[in-house]
Formats: sequence, structure tokens, C-alpha cells
Amino acid sequence: MKGLKQKIIQKKIIQELKIKEGIVEIDKSSCDGCKQCLNVCPHSAITIINLSKEEVKKLSLKGRLKVKIKGNNKASINQEICTACGLCIKQCHEFAIHKRIKK
Ligand code: SF4
Ligand code: SF4
Repeated sequence: MKGLKQKIIQKKIIQELKIKEGIVEIDKSSCDGCKQCLNVCPHSAITIINLSKEEVKKLSLKGRLKVKIKGNNKASINQEICTACGLCIKQCHEFAIHKRIKK
């Protein structure tokens, strides 16, 4: 019984470390500013920002077209608050949120 408890604790620690290792980022060229990710973030780490003309110019062709159709509202993650839990990744219908491992 003790062994099982230890295994569960070990698994939780590993999961926790994995979460902390990652950085969750938003691909501004894919985001359409729908705000769905804001609703699931338990830490209110996501806000909507307006890209400047200069920032829009730096987007991919797909991103610039998206701005023309949907506007320049984009989701932005405050890395100081984000725990990289990944809940927002599942919520995004544009597959605009990705997690990468911290180097
Ligand atoms: S990141 Fe995805 S869910 Fe969040 S605002 Fe952009 S498109 Fe919507
Ligand atoms: S990974 Fe989790 S904490 Fe970070 S922005 Fe997404 S939902 Fe919020």
C-alpha cells in the first residue's frame, strides 16, 4: 500500500515538473481573438491585446489576412502568471496555442 502511495506521489511530482518546464505561447498569426481561451484560464493569465500596424506587418501572410477579416485583437499570455497547465491549448479552435519546453 505504501509503495502505491509513493508511486502516485512520484507521478504527481513528475507531472508538476513537466508543467513548470513548459512555456505556453500564442501564435499571433493563427489567433483570431475569439477570447475562448480567456474563459478557461484558472489564473486569468490571458488578455486580449490590439496589435499595432507594425506588429501586423510582422505576421505571416495567413496572419495578415486573418487581421483583415477578424481584426487585430489577439490573445496574449502573461508569462509571470501562467503555470503552463495547458487548459487553454485544448480550448483553442484555431490551434494557435502551443507549449514548448523551457531551455
Ligand atoms: S488563442 Fe485561440 S482561443 Fe484564444 S483568442 Fe486566439 S483563437 Fe481564440
Ligand atoms: S497554460 Fe494554463 S495558466 Fe497558462 S495561460 Fe493557458 S490556461 Fe492559463
